[in-house]
Amino acid sequence: MAKHPIIRLKGREGRRVRLGAPWVFSNEIVMDQAAKALAPGTLIDLKADDGQNIGTGYFNPASLISVRLFTREAGVVIDAEFFTTALRRALRRREALYDAPYYRLVHAEGDGLPGVVIDRFDDIVSVQVTTAGMETLTSELVAALDVAIAPRTVVLRNDTPSRTLEGLDPYVKAAKGEMPSRITVLENGARYFADLGGGQKTGWYYDQRDNRAFMAKLAQGKSVLDAYCYAGGFAIAAAKGGASDVTGIDSSHPALALAEEAAAANQVKARFVKADVFDELDRLVAAKEKFGIVIADPPPFVKSRKDLEPGAKAYRKLARLAASVTAPEGFLLLASCSHNIPLERFAQECAIGIARTGRNASLIHQAGVSPDHPVHPMLPETAYLKALVYALD
Ligand code: SAH
Repeated sequence: MAKHPIIRLKGREGRRVRLGAPWVFSNEIVMDQAAKALAPGTLIDLKADDGQNIGTGYFNPASLISVRLFTREAGVVIDAEFFTTALRRALRRREALYDAPYYRLVHAEGDGLPGVVIDRFDDIVSVQVTTAGMETLTSELVAALDVAIAPRTVVLRNDTPSRTLEGLDPYVKAAKGEMPSRITVLENGARYFADLGGGQKTGWYYDQRDNRAFMAKLAQGKSVLDAYCYAGGFAIAAAKGGASDVTGIDSSHPALALAEEAAAANQVKARFVKADVFDELDRLVAAKEKFGIVIADPPPFVKSRKDLEPGAKAYRKLARLAASVTAPEGFLLLASCSHNIPLERFAQECAIGIARTGRNASLIHQAGVSPDHPVHPMLPETAYLKALVYALD
């Protein structure tokens, strides 16, 4: 048993946490002097106002999400051993799903480890810590990784903007081994490359793995346009799936260089264009170019709730332009990684955008993240990815 400072819920507050959610918001707790004096990230026990134990977690007086729970038991020692148990459970889940050690090993609350995601590329892992609580426990977590999977290299990819909400500075460094310059990713039978130091997020988007496989199955004999292609995730999968020709568009030169390397490594042909997707789509529409498959997986257009209306408009416009360049009887995938736009609204914007082109469309597939991104059932709002696949007439 560990003796932690106690954070108390206010009278009737904390309905969600009492039902089983792992979060408590700042307005739900007694924010007295003692609580305010706790350092960001302090391990705490959470109690109801009648003294009933709710669980063990960490506290940040400066964050809107004040408490994140590790477990529903109070007084649990959170150390390398605790993390080893959690990592081994996460590992067994992935080993049940995948043949090779390339996956998201830990997806925060979905794996009982709030404030951290860990992507695994065989013996290299990319760790992204987003909260003060996890930041203070990083060395225990790295020690547990050594016990659970003994990686050669551990990269701390701690430069995500959301860290500022927790008062954390951005940095990227190797916590173990050398900072790798460029790594290999094996996914759906294809070989890709990622840059863990300079690429986006943790370096690779495993969340679209199943959606890439789905589109690859449709690709046989079709021309494919992969808008926002990053390091070639969809483009190379489609080329391997037998696409007649593949074009990827992205605004990032380093991402396109990785995509080109992936094309060569998989011995497939694909053309990668550095451009703004909206500009390039305008040009393709004007030139009356059509593609049998169009994929549009943009960066988040709704970064915060106040961006909902302009972001929704941008999704509508993207759907209209993407549908305009989809060939008769072609397939169109529209994705959103903004957790601030609900599925219903995103689907509505896509439907209106497609309808504006005068085309008939049928929704043939609706998907989210791949299963190595588990969602805590009490935090459905953290299921951020939405992918809709339409068949156009
Ligand atoms: N589909 C990719 C992931 C896309 S992430 C995959 O399967 O891995 C979003 C991508 O959009 C990033 O690579 C980013 O460089 C690119 N991007 C952002 N704004 C852009 C713009 N205006 N035009 C073109 N690409 C853009």
